[in-house]
Amino acid sequence: MFLRPRTKPGSDSIFAADELQDVGQRSLVRMIFAASGLTLGVFCVLQFLAGNYVLASLELVVAGTSLWGAWRIVRVRNLLPWIYLYLLPTFSFLLYIIVMPNGSRTAFVWVYSIPVLSYLLLGRKRGSRLALPFMSAAGLLYFYTDPVSLDAQGLIDLGNPLLCGVMIIVFVHLYETRRASAHKQLQHMARTDALTGVASRGSFQQSLEQSIGEAQRRQERLVLVMLDVDHFKAVNDQYGHDAGDQALRYICNSLSQRLRNTDILGRLGGEEFGLLLRNTDGQGAEPLVETLREQLCSQPMRYGNQDIALSATFGLAEWPVDGQTAEQLYRCADQRLYRGKELGRNRLIGRAGGEEEIGVE
Ligand code: GH3
Ligand code: MG
Ligand code: MG
Repeated sequence: MFLRPRTKPGSDSIFAADELQDVGQRSLVRMIFAASGLTLGVFCVLQFLAGNYVLASLELVVAGTSLWGAWRIVRVRNLLPWIYLYLLPTFSFLLYIIVMPNGSRTAFVWVYSIPVLSYLLLGRKRGSRLALPFMSAAGLLYFYTDPVSLDAQGLIDLGNPLLCGVMIIVFVHLYETRRASAHKQLQHMARTDALTGVASRGSFQQSLEQSIGEAQRRQERLVLVMLDVDHFKAVNDQYGHDAGDQALRYICNSLSQRLRNTDILGRLGGEEFGLLLRNTDGQGAEPLVETLREQLCSQPMRYGNQDIALSATFGLAEWPVDGQTAEQLYRCADQRLYRGKELGRNRLIGRAGGEEEIGVE
């Protein structure tokens, strides 16, 4: 008996990888803005007590701006301009305090925050492009304002800040490179079904929602097809689970061969797949889906020295006539697929497939 899927593809979202990255980035920027605002607030008081009123006023303005930025940042669309708006004046200020008349001799240690902040907020490429010139400028200014003698002690004095700076840059660079590649891998894993290599359920769901949005803007149509392999349990029972796995890969290969670049195949779960056909309507898509169905059932899979016959039942729904939202479209395609199973399997049920009888909204 055909079992209805227990959960609808719309019910989960695995876009954690992307969303998490954005949420994480925003909260990081927020934390850095707030920490900078508070730190500058403390220095503003100290500079005021030391009688440096101009510097204290400047720090007050920047502290206020940073705290306002921390409050605002969660709502802005594009983070990048905000990050540069923060980093460029901050780094320029860090260079200034090195050469500032009567500045503290230890003020240069702040320069070490340049690579850390750059890489954290901008990633590897942009971060290195910003950090390296600032670090180099800081080094030149430091040694210009406090020239070292070239004896052993002088070279030790030179080596300490220089090597420390180089090590920090190398470490953050390596760390960020590894983090970025791990993130990419995670994203790929979340978007791809591990067994078949087609789009994962969450990725398929996102593509469908995005495509509906695009189709709406461009006044186009699109088609969602759901398919479920027929009697797949019998394949597992008769030939083993490994043959079942191979059959799922075989089916995906077979379906992918005929699809356009813009079409998307996704695994919705178990032996159930979704096909997203963009910029077409039900009438245009039916011959293609019919060809896919015929191809699948006419070309058995070779497994060892046996041929395993495979077939699938397809339910087709067209946006926007069969459903305005992704969820309605899923429901319609699923009902038609279910109807196809009831009618004997290995068939496509589309718009003319008796929707009156099954009460599709
Ligand atoms: P129907 O024509 O009604 O769809 O019959 P069916 O046997 O395909 O339906 P049923 O839902 O009873 O069985 C689905 C089977 O698919 C059961 C499950 O073990 C198998 N299956 C689900 N995911 C995988 C998988 O990743 N690999 C393998 N080998 N089998 C899987
Ligand atoms: Mg099945
Ligand atoms: Mg099934």
